[in-house]
Amino acid sequence: MGKWTAKPGLAGRALRALRIRLTASFVLLFALVLVSVGLAFRETLGVVLSEQSERLLDREWAAVPGLLKMQRGELVWAYDAENAEEVFAVERLRRVLLLTDAQGNVLEMSSGYAALGEEKPELIRKAIRAPQPVTVERQDARGRPYLVRMGGLRDSGKEFFLAIGLPVEDMMHARSRLSRVYFLVLPVMLLGIAVVGWFAAGGALSPLRRVAEAAQTVSVGNLGLRLPLHGGGDELDQLIETFNSMMERLELHFKQIRQFSIDASHELRTPITAVRGQLEVALFTAETKDQYRDAIVTALEDVDRLGQIVKSLLLLAQAESGQLALREKLVDVSGAVAELADQFRLAAVDKGIELTLEASEPCMAVVDRTQVERMLFHLLSNAMKYTQPGGAVKVQVKREASALRLCVSDNGPGIPGAHLPHIFERFYRIREGRPGNEQGAGLGLAFVAWVVRAHGGTIHVTSAPGEGSSFDISLPQKGVDVPAHAEGLPATFSSAQDGDSSRLEF
Ligand code: ADP
Repeated sequence: MGKWTAKPGLAGRALRALRIRLTASFVLLFALVLVSVGLAFRETLGVVLSEQSERLLDREWAAVPGLLKMQRGELVWAYDAENAEEVFAVERLRRVLLLTDAQGNVLEMSSGYAALGEEKPELIRKAIRAPQPVTVERQDARGRPYLVRMGGLRDSGKEFFLAIGLPVEDMMHARSRLSRVYFLVLPVMLLGIAVVGWFAAGGALSPLRRVAEAAQTVSVGNLGLRLPLHGGGDELDQLIETFNSMMERLELHFKQIRQFSIDASHELRTPITAVRGQLEVALFTAETKDQYRDAIVTALEDVDRLGQIVKSLLLLAQAESGQLALREKLVDVSGAVAELADQFRLAAVDKGIELTLEASEPCMAVVDRTQVERMLFHLLSNAMKYTQPGGAVKVQVKREASALRLCVSDNGPGIPGAHLPHIFERFYRIREGRPGNEQGAGLGLAFVAWVVRAHGGTIHVTSAPGEGSSFDISLPQKGVDVPAHAEGLPATFSSAQDGDSSRLEF
């Protein structure tokens, strides 16, 4: 594996932006969580502290009847002056206290309560009538907060109004001090989280950076480049796997293109060398007009062959690069095949080959007529080319419920099993001892394969050396009605013989 140098390219900048975004999201998320936790903490603390204050007030309120008693028609503080606990309790109660009769006449008011202000007679009457004492929040003249519990007292048939207060300034302070400290520390915590997030995002993105850097270095010279998986089995591993399989495909296609260029230049060089040789020989040795004429005729034949190769190459290149779009239409295939077979009749008679056509008529199918004709032309030319005089070539056309079947068979030399898997490759030719082979460039069957593939069909080759070959093509037909009289024809297609066979399915 190669060594990559980081280039601050587009990918680098994009990754940096992604890292910043990740860190920012991380910090934002934490900020939201921490602020919510802080606010919740402040509220909870407030509730806990005020519950505590209320409990204190409850205790003090409950102690009042034991310490404030009716004596000779008056309410007086009755406690043991020797009992420090009682003395302290009374002192605490009387710090913020208001005691009035039922009409609101003040019987006792501490200076602490005076700072909170007097209570209105309506409020006093309402509090006496209320079944339970109530707790209200008050502020003194200096804005200090108090919790005040007020309600009625009954003793010896008389009713009184009592209010006791508890300063809660310290509790409030504690709450706001704690919140202030928390919210002051929060930015520092977020800064720490940003630093951690920055490095965590960097670590998480490092496999991505490796892929980006590797992608930047890809060139024709290092198509063998593959990245090691980072081992998490996650999306990043998937990305690396996708990158590696893309590189594999690229490498394969580049290899094919390179091989194609080598093969093409080799194929073109042979006739060019031959033409050059013939012209040179003619130039240096020919003396008569006939000798010059012969040399030019042979050279022209080679130029023709050259032209054929270039034409086939161009067609194949167009087909494989997607420039040759299929134009499928409902056509009578048997009519087209009959016309094509007629073009070979003369050559068949000349060579002493029996050419037969078995076709159901009409045989309607949706195909690209031009390409199907070209495909059959290649198959027929091969059959005619390789079959020896006295042999037989047969073309069969048949429409089945969901497919168009075409078969070109001959009783020529056959194709040895070792070659069968390769005959559809570009420039593949069987060179050993085959008359007729010198005319081809090994492109015909590659084109046949493309036509079959483009129609979504399959091709099945059955061949036995010395006995012949059979190319059986099936082109799928969906939603095309089969004419009634095309059904029920005898199946004349040869099934696989005991020889070798090759199947191409796309
Ligand atoms: P070529 O132009 O050489 O015929 P093709 O791609 O059409 O190229 O065929 C590839 C090879 O397959 C040929 O070189 C030939 O040896 C073999 N081949 C094709 N068709 C037949 C056939 N009908 N009988 C025997 N061999 C065949």
